[in-house]
Amino acid sequence: MNKPRVLATRPIFAPLHPVLEEQLEMEYWQERERMPRAELLKRIGEKDGVICITTDKIDEELLAAAPKLRLVTTISVGVDHINLDACTRRNVIVTNTPGVLDDTTADLAWALMMAVARRIVEGDTWTRSGTWNGLEFDHFLGTDIWGKTLGVIGFGRIGREMARRASGFKMHVIYNNRNRVSAAIEQELRATFASVDALLAESDFVSLHVPLRADTRHLISGASFEKMKRTAFLINTARGPIVDENALVDALEKGVIAGAGLDVYEQEPKVHPGLIQRRNVVLAPHIGSATTDTRMAMAKLAVQNALAFFEGRTPPNALNAR
Ligand code: NAP
Repeated sequence: MNKPRVLATRPIFAPLHPVLEEQLEMEYWQERERMPRAELLKRIGEKDGVICITTDKIDEELLAAAPKLRLVTTISVGVDHINLDACTRRNVIVTNTPGVLDDTTADLAWALMMAVARRIVEGDTWTRSGTWNGLEFDHFLGTDIWGKTLGVIGFGRIGREMARRASGFKMHVIYNNRNRVSAAIEQELRATFASVDALLAESDFVSLHVPLRADTRHLISGASFEKMKRTAFLINTARGPIVDENALVDALEKGVIAGAGLDVYEQEPKVHPGLIQRRNVVLAPHIGSATTDTRMAMAKLAVQNALAFFEGRTPPNALNAR
């Protein structure tokens, strides 16, 4: 019997190749640069499955070009690059990689928070510049993190890990979530539920952890910044379009908020020029889950999902299995 044919839009990790190839006829994109869209549309034609990441748009056009496609396995927890409804209509199963990147992504959100509040990047640039003259009493004064209020919007896997880290910093944690979490979780994480408006008004640091969907697009707008403290910081490691980037730049320019730490952008890889020139903003290139261990764990989980599907089992992370 012919093996199912699967396209991997990245080389993935070589140690995972033998286990994939035992069951599947694999085709890997081996180039360093991203697979061009035209190439993806061409190569997907005869494939039964695709292993992709967040920069590969799985939309109606791609599905139409892939009449045999039965599985989309994304090496990410976010699935905003995939038209889930269109996949379901065509009986294409979609899987993601939740749970293995929670700590790593929360760590990065924390790193951004500390970097922007304590002006680490500015200080690094200054220290390297050769103009540093030794300690000054009023130089690079930052903002304390310890003892402040952290507001977490989206209290799922990653949002809760943010809260867990906050207790070590003696912070007060408030959260908003579509559904309020159980009293046991609130107690364990010492977190209090608040409306989005109350959270924006009370927090010294607002950290976003909701998925990008129609109802979360521009969840943080110009009106949101007006509700925040002038001394507060916004941290976004979720998805760029959750924040109205023009409104963020405007708020930063006018001093409506104190600063921002960002890992994601509205039109990646484009970064708003108004962000690039600001010193009270720390920018990361979408590296929330980018550690060697975590990327390997994500790739392994994607492989498990693919193999389970083609062995006729329900994949552990199927999002639209019947
Ligand atoms: P998760 O466990 O599904 O948590 C998301 C939470 O958001 C859920 O608790 C959900 O509440 C809540 N939520 C959904 N819509 C909401 C709304 N309109 N208002 C308030 N809360 C809402 O997801 P996760 O694993 O923590 O990941 C979160 C997101 O982080 C992913 O979707 C992805 O986009 C992003 N991410 C980014 C990186 C990076 O590299 N920067 C890495 C990993 C993940 P309910 O449970 O009540 O629906």
